[in-house]
This record gives sequence, C-alpha cells and structure tokens, in this order.
Amino acid sequence: DSSVCAPLAVLGRDVTVPLVTGGEVTYAALDYAASAPALQRVWDDVAAYAPYYGSVHRGAGYLSQLSTDLFENSRKTVAEFLGCREDDQVVFTRSTTDSLNLLAAALPADCQVFVFETEHHASLLPWRDARVTCLNAPRTPDEAVQTLERALADRDPYGPALVCVTGASNVTGELWPVRELAAAAHAHGARIVLDAAQLAPHHPVSVAELDVDWVAFSGHKLYAPFGSGVLAGRSDWLRAAEPYLAGGGASRKVARRADGGVDVEWHDSAARHEAGSPNVIGVYSIASACKALTDAGFDELVAREQHLIRTVREGLAEVPQVRILSLFGDDAPRVGVISFVVDGWNSSHFAAALSAEYGIGVRDGLFCAHPLVRTLLGSEPDEPGECGAPEAAPGEKSLNAIRVSFGAGTPDEHVERFVRAVK
Ligand code: PMP
Repeated sequence: DSSVCAPLAVLGRDVTVPLVTGGEVTYAALDYAASAPALQRVWDDVAAYAPYYGSVHRGAGYLSQLSTDLFENSRKTVAEFLGCREDDQVVFTRSTTDSLNLLAAALPADCQVFVFETEHHASLLPWRDARVTCLNAPRTPDEAVQTLERALADRDPYGPALVCVTGASNVTGELWPVRELAAAAHAHGARIVLDAAQLAPHHPVSVAELDVDWVAFSGHKLYAPFGSGVLAGRSDWLRAAEPYLAGGGASRKVARRADGGVDVEWHDSAARHEAGSPNVIGVYSIASACKALTDAGFDELVAREQHLIRTVREGLAEVPQVRILSLFGDDAPRVGVISFVVDGWNSSHFAAALSAEYGIGVRDGLFCAHPLVRTLLGSEPDEPGECGAPEAAPGEKSLNAIRVSFGAGTPDEHVERFVRAVK
C-alpha cells in the first residue's frame, strides 16, 4: 500500500473479522496508543535471532556470549536513540509502568514529587512513598510551565524534588512543553522524568536536548511488542538506591557471615536494577525498533500521521454530535491520538458498534487517566466511567470517551472507514 510509510512497514496482519451486519472485513487496528504492531524489521530481527537464544550474563558457551553481546549492544543502541549523556544509564524494565515504579523506588529520602493531574496513572501513582503535589490541569502549555514554576517556588528548597511529566498525552495526543518544564524544574533545583510512552513512537526524543534527567518508554508502543521497557538517565540516584529487585545479576559479591546473615555488594551499573534472567528478545526488539526509526527518520512518519490526524479531525468536525477532547485547543501540536465523545451515546456502546459493524478496533473508557478524562468531560469522581457508564441522553455529558490512535503502517482506508462509520 503506497500510502503506508514504507521503511517502517509493520508486520502484515491480514485479519478478517465477521460483521454483525453480515459479511466480513479486514480488521482496522486503530488503537496504537494502547499497543502498536511490530515493525516488519523488528519481527525479522527477532525471528533471525530466536534460534540462537541463550542466557544473558550467565554462560561461557557461544550462544550465551552471543545473547550477552546482543543484550549489551542493545543498551548502546537505545542510549544512542535517546541521545543519552556519557554518565547516563539505560536500565531495561518490563514497561513504562515498571520504569517509573523503579525510579519511584530509587528516590532519595524526603523527595518531593510534582505531577499534573493530567498524567496517565503510570506517571501519577508510583510515587506513593514520596510527598506528592498534584497540580491542576493547565489549559495552555504556558500555563503548565507557570503552574509548575509556582509550585516549585513554594517548595522546601533544600530537599530533593522530582517532576514527572508526559511528553504526549495518551488521551488528547497533545504535546507538552517538555523542554520548558525541564528548564523550570532545574531552575528550582528539581529533577525531571519524561514519560515518553506516547512521545517516543511519534517523535525523536533526546534526553540531552530536552535536558530531562530520565526518560521512560515501553517497547510495545514503539513497535517492539516483546515485553520490555526502558528507564534511561542520570545514574547517581539509581546507583545510590537499593536494587529494584534483589537476586542474581544485581549482586557483585555475596557471602555468608559468621553470624548466619548474608552480606551483599550490589553492582553500580544498570545491572543493579535488572536482577534475574533478562528478557533478551524484548530488549533486542526495542533496539531493532530504535534502529529502524533512526534509519527511516521521523519526517515521513510524522507527515503521514499529520495527514491521518487531519482526515480524522476534519471528518469528525462534520458530525455535530461529536466533541473532540482537548486541553490546549484545536491548534495545539499533537500526535495521532484522538479522543472524543458522541452526544447521546454511551462511548462503550459506540466503540463496540465500531468493532461489530465496521471491524474497527478503538479504545473506550477513561484510558488510565481518570482525573484528566473527568476534567475534560466535566464529571465527578463518584460518577461511573471506566465501565458501566449509563447511556448519555442527547445534550447530557458522557462519563467515558472513545479513543482512536494510529501510526506507522496505518493505511488511509482504516481512518477513512472510521470517519465513515462515525458519520
Ligand atoms: N504513560 C503513558 C502516557 C501511556 O500512554 C501508557 C500506556 N497507556 C503508560 C504510561 C504505561 O505504559 P505500559 O502499560 O506499557 O506500562
């Protein structure tokens, strides 16, 4: 399909689904923000390696050495992809959620954490043991920076502090002013971690250029759906922290004490937080996706996506009952993630109808960002939402929303069918 960004072809998925209205149709996967398909190149690399799979860091034999090299070279590839600084560490995790929980477990004592209420739960919730300040949803990118600056100016200036912010919203697709937020954080002696789960698949992310202290993302949203994620950034807090998991691989030296206890010396490197046999296929697949994206560059991908965004937004604008959810307004720069509600429809029923009648896969609900979606819908926390939201009568507010998202390999036909179906 010439409309598909060729160097970033995704694994062919000719899934045909039956329609309740009769007949069948090719499945249109429009839920990339949840999980994107594998790039063909990622699949080819994984398939080529799979027969030679061996243990990482745990064997003297050839296949073990091969797997160890692959694993450690993947670390270098990811560091390059993210524009890491010399002293940064790349820690392999299971996902963005895992990465941010790792960082939360590595915070220095008495760390204050600042998050916007608009965050995905993976960025909002891991900081349970810290002093958390949850900031109001801003209505412009500038307001986001000002809100953060005010909050940081009021903080205890001597203690450590961390800001956690998402680069692109998983609800509105809108880009956040990461560089400016990083500058504000640093001006007040705080650090910043970027949740790039939705940003990295759509835009180059450079730790050094954005001047963020850490970045987290998931392989399965970056066209590498084999169960791994990344936390990359400053090594000092990671080195000083207790290992995220205790076990083999994280420990340099273990000895039984005369009194019956056990003494441990932990590694200072990323291995400190990677105890247990690592997911080398997941890690290698991320490196493969990083290489594919670097080789192809983002220009064509972004241009395709902006074209698809226009098709969807212009199409939905012709349906008076549709309201697209947005914090920063129509002109805000955004990635291919669009959420909306349809007056008079329960969003879950609407999404189910898109699937059953048109073979289109979207997401419905509150998208693991309950405070943000409630703010955008004007609903209250004790109203139902994620499941079981009642039918909204025409003119009434909806209690959950529908999300359509796309990326590399999305043909025009999928979004055109989606627009037709909504109409
Ligand atoms: N942050 C954002 C912005 C996300 O969209 C998601 C996934 N929806 C996550 C974090 C969590 O990613 P994962 O489920 O891979 O841990």
